[in-house]
Amino acid sequence: MERYHVIIVGGGPSGLSCAIWLTKLGVNSLLLEASGILGGLQTRSPYENLWIPGVQGKTGQEVAASIAGHAVDVGAELRVGRPVLAVTRDGDGFRVTTSEGDVHGRFVVIATGSTPRTGGFTPSETVAIGPGEPMEALDVEGRAVAILGGGDNAFDQARFVRDRGGRVTVFSRGVPRAQKLLQDLVPGIPVNVGAYDARQSDMTVNGRHFHCFGIQYGFEAVVPAGLDLKRRDGYVEVDRFGETNVANVFACGEVTDFWHPCVTTSAAHGVQVAKQIAKRL
Ligand SMILES: Cc1cc2nc3c(=O)[nH]c(=O)nc-3n(C[C@H](O)[C@H](O)[C@H](O)COP(=O)(O)OP(=O)(O)OC[C@H]3O[C@@H](n4cnc5c(N)ncnc54)[C@H](O)[C@@H]3O)c2cc1C
Repeated sequence: MERYHVIIVGGGPSGLSCAIWLTKLGVNSLLLEASGILGGLQTRSPYENLWIPGVQGKTGQEVAASIAGHAVDVGAELRVGRPVLAVTRDGDGFRVTTSEGDVHGRFVVIATGSTPRTGGFTPSETVAIGPGEPMEALDVEGRAVAILGGGDNAFDQARFVRDRGGRVTVFSRGVPRAQKLLQDLVPGIPVNVGAYDARQSDMTVNGRHFHCFGIQYGFEAVVPAGLDLKRRDGYVEVDRFGETNVANVFACGEVTDFWHPCVTTSAAHGVQVAKQIAKRL
């Protein structure tokens, strides 16, 4: 079994930032990413990212490529297409099980982020789950589109669909939670508040037919199996250094309950964890 000081699970902004810092600090580490591409949720975003101090004029996808390129340039050891199936205790550290065999780390960093809630819907040509690329892939021009959800992403995506010529209706079970600013950007769009019956089988909401659904039910943490990590609302609880209730298992970025989720805080959290582990070694 290959042995490392640190195994990082997840190659989004938090895991990659952790890998960059560990590598520069001379710590032997390996990052495992489940998908075929590095950059995490930013790879879903074709929109300009206006929120990273000092970074301007880049889409989310360009930000993803830039962080991944930085990790490659510093010589971080990165493997894509390696979903971690389980993390279990093993001797003085942890066994990390992947589809391609096991690796051993004295420390483990859980940087597995979050994923859009499906609400029981299945992604298809006419049903997009979560914001970004899947929504942009829908053919909406001149078509009736139901956005299900009442948060920021629901209203953001309602605006994008309207701008692409779609006829949007928003369905929100409760009073919409979206910022007023975002709601004000889609004046005149019908917003139905209250319980609704949405059926993918015949693409209806309350009996009315729609060509497309955009499911915007927020996000939930993605946590690999095997460790009994303490959670709050599904997110991994960590202390101010990023350590979980299991000694030597750290977590950073959107999988935690720590900071407002965005690229800057996720990256900063990865840095904090890297520094803390380097100090311990
Ligand atoms: C459409 C969209 C637009 C956004 N726009 C902005 C913006 O403009 N500005 C901003 O600051 N933020 C934006 N965000 C939020 C930002 O992308 C996230 O806050 C950030 O990516 C979180 O980083 P992370 O590394 O914690 O998690 P993630 O980005 O979720 O990365 C986690 C990674 O872990 C991998 N993984 C999960 N499970 C496993 C496993 N078992 N084994 C191996 N790998 C695993 C996943 O495949 C993923 O690559 C946007 C998000 C979306 C969806």
